[in-house]
Amino acid sequence: MKPSRNLSVGINKTSNEHDEPMKKVKLYLNYAGHCLAKESEAIQGGRGQKIKFHALWGLIEHPEKGWILYDTGYTERFYEATRSYPSKIYAQLVKTTIEEKDTVKAQLEAHGISALDIRHVIITHFHADHVGGLLDFPNAQFYASRKALEYTLDLSSIFAFSKGVLKELLPTDLSERTILVDEVCPKTSHPILGEMYDLFEDESLYLVPLPGHAAGQMGVLLETQQRPYFLIADACWLKKSYEEMVFPNPIVKLFFHSWSDFKASLQKIHRYHQAHPEACVVPTHCAETTAPLVQAKIDLDVL
Ligand SMILES: [Zn+2]
Repeated sequence: MKPSRNLSVGINKTSNEHDEPMKKVKLYLNYAGHCLAKESEAIQGGRGQKIKFHALWGLIEHPEKGWILYDTGYTERFYEATRSYPSKIYAQLVKTTIEEKDTVKAQLEAHGISALDIRHVIITHFHADHVGGLLDFPNAQFYASRKALEYTLDLSSIFAFSKGVLKELLPTDLSERTILVDEVCPKTSHPILGEMYDLFEDESLYLVPLPGHAAGQMGVLLETQQRPYFLIADACWLKKSYEEMVFPNPIVKLFFHSWSDFKASLQKIHRYHQAHPEACVVPTHCAETTAPLVQAKIDLDVL
């Protein structure tokens, strides 16, 4: 198979020798709340002090499909869901802050976008800081991997919190509204990232399996007019991890789905970054990465 000629992110189609450039989309990123965690837990050799883990979310504008959300951050429903034990333990551990005005829904509405007009939401994984806003988008179709969805639905309501999941945040019709990307979307092979899924079958958004941190986690590879972006969710927390292959404190293994999968996913991102330094790799909670990317108002022409 010949290498991609004109595609900076290097995608080779398995079924087609003809390489097309990625279809460009627009991207906006911002935060919807945050929690606190020790830097020394997020990365080996980190400081003992607590750092903010912002709940990053994204608004993607696709030329035909319209608005697509990348995760949905926190909402005040987090407080409700963690009011009593045992889920309260989760809130005590992560110290979450979210105000109504900072939710994805409020930010969209301040920009004149109704939550009812959101038809597509990509769910990287089902941890509470990524799916907190799902209930605000009743007309949306969700996109996730079969593994992520099944693992989440199989968790008992009582112990789900210990895996970062709060079932109260999930719509009751979650299964019916979720398209299983790894079953429905065409598969493509990337020379470094391996198999990934062409979400709309138009080479605009590729969903890349990045399991380990959570079961069936997926990242998103896309390209704007300015540059390629690889949104990697929680495949690592701080950029030093994928840049230098530095792992989190082993204590977090308790919360991870698979440590070996986590390391394999991180290795892929590390190699991708080395091969494509022009691409912006975005770990959801890395403030050093995201601070220059977020803007106070929704503007889809900056990134
Ligand atoms: Zn997570």
